[in-house]
Amino acid sequence: MARRAPFRILDTEVRPGQRATVDVPLAQLYTHTQLHMPVQVVHGRREGPVLLVSAALHGDEINGVEIIRRLLKLSALRQLAGTLVAVPIVNVFGFIHRSRYLPDRRDLNRCFPGSERGSLGARTAYLFRTGIVERCNHVIDLHTAAIHRDNLPQIRVNLENAEAAAMARAFGMPLTLNSGLIEGSLRAVADDAGIPVITYEAGEALRFQEPAIKAGLAGTVRVMRSLGMLPSRSGRHTGGSRQSYVANASQWVRAEQDGIFRTVSPLGTHVKQRQVLGYIADPFGERELPVHAPFSGIVVGRNNLPLVNEGEALYHVARYDQAARAERVAAQWAAFEEGLNGDYPPSEEPPIV
Ligand SMILES: [Zn+2]
Repeated sequence: MARRAPFRILDTEVRPGQRATVDVPLAQLYTHTQLHMPVQVVHGRREGPVLLVSAALHGDEINGVEIIRRLLKLSALRQLAGTLVAVPIVNVFGFIHRSRYLPDRRDLNRCFPGSERGSLGARTAYLFRTGIVERCNHVIDLHTAAIHRDNLPQIRVNLENAEAAAMARAFGMPLTLNSGLIEGSLRAVADDAGIPVITYEAGEALRFQEPAIKAGLAGTVRVMRSLGMLPSRSGRHTGGSRQSYVANASQWVRAEQDGIFRTVSPLGTHVKQRQVLGYIADPFGERELPVHAPFSGIVVGRNNLPLVNEGEALYHVARYDQAARAERVAAQWAAFEEGLNGDYPPSEEPPIV
């Protein structure tokens, strides 16, 4: 059998069965320092797809950074078929500043496809897209909610793309949001280029949250198994959800007045239309206003900061018109959360608590 060709990235050649870390030059800082995007390539001995797993495209969304660290430590990678391209920190600028954004205040996930001569954001997007994304056959992009917000672990995907839909199913979250492609996002340009892409959203910015990390790692491994990149072991409990319930619409519920916000609905709650999710009041407890669910569904995102201004987003509710269905999703979520206590993929490290 012909030996597998090496994987080339910049000047580095990664031979089958090897891994290499490559620093992709991003920009020259005004300190006369060169800034790089660190990339690790694991090139399997056997043929297979090239999978990109990326995190911290928003520089303060760090659960995915830890997911990638654990992914790269898995002993199963010795049996890898295909190539894993891991980019734990895409937005290096934002990561250094513990910020979602770039120094020019742009959102990197709205800068794609980017350009060679545009703003810092456009240049970073261009380098990442042409140098990394377009070298890959599949993409898993790891995100969290924005600062002071928390997301229930979920997959966002354009289900019209059959291959992306299959990845979403394999990832095995109880809940999938069939969401449109936002112009300028990584998801939109990858989809445009015919590269199936899913976004994993879980947890809060600037935090390490074990359930979100564990679910994301297990989901990524399940996708790799479904793509034939890792051997599948039948019968083994993999912690995935038996069924992923798809929501085709979701909406943010916003504050109707300024005030101090108390929530009574945790993430994953099944809510009925008009149900009270929380309250906004002034410090004396006067002028109290209940916050209602706009429709029947599941709370998939939530604001954690009690001090709110009028118009601020409080709850993200995924719509499930039939109450019975929403109830099943909530039950599935509860079972899934319990299943996270199982040790999959196996690890010798203590959990983050
Ligand atoms: Zn994000």
